[in-house]
Amino acid sequence: MRILVVEDDPNLNKQVKNALEDNGYSVDIALDGEEGHFLGDTEPYDAVVLDLGLPKIDGLTVLENWRKENKKFPVLILTARDRWSEKVNGFDAGADDYVTKPFQMEELLARLRALIRRSAGHATSDIECGPLKIDTKLNKVFINGTKLKLTSHEYKIIEYFLHHQDKVISRTELTEHIYDQDFDRDSNTIEVFIGRLRKKIGNNMIKTERGYGYRLSLDE
Ligand code: CA
Repeated sequence: MRILVVEDDPNLNKQVKNALEDNGYSVDIALDGEEGHFLGDTEPYDAVVLDLGLPKIDGLTVLENWRKENKKFPVLILTARDRWSEKVNGFDAGADDYVTKPFQMEELLARLRALIRRSAGHATSDIECGPLKIDTKLNKVFINGTKLKLTSHEYKIIEYFLHHQDKVISRTELTEHIYDQDFDRDSNTIEVFIGRLRKKIGNNMIKTERGYGYRLSLDE
């Protein structure tokens, strides 16, 4: 899952980025509204953390513009304490949730998890596909109740598959959702990761859809 963090306070931005990366997300950052708007416009994020008070373009305008451009990713806004009108305006502009500064990182993480799973149509933090289960809270994956040892890239791929079960996912889509912007991407390595994952979870759950990509499914 790939997240954009738009926050002009460099320390807070870094704290959020580090916490998200520690929890298995790939993260891009922007320090002003202009860069934030551009990235959200051009990259396929799974969720966005958006501060409202931003240089160049304010967060509310950035959000309104994304929604006008039909960008549907979930957006969590950061608002100052006691500014209830900011929350109302944020929701009206298309925000999905908010946290009030100063916030506990655990709360931000929990709200983001909820937004990401809900936008993929899942109601709980455990997501299952037959014998395969992910606990998105603990960042752990189980097969028949046994915890799998996964590298961070393998985790990111299986997390994406489990959120989007039965959907055909191209190598490009996977690449875009597991790597951040600065990563030296190579879509051939996706095949290597898929091969390793198949060995770990059993051969038949990740199907190859020739010419299209992959699909996680219980179908024969
Ligand atoms: Ca700010």
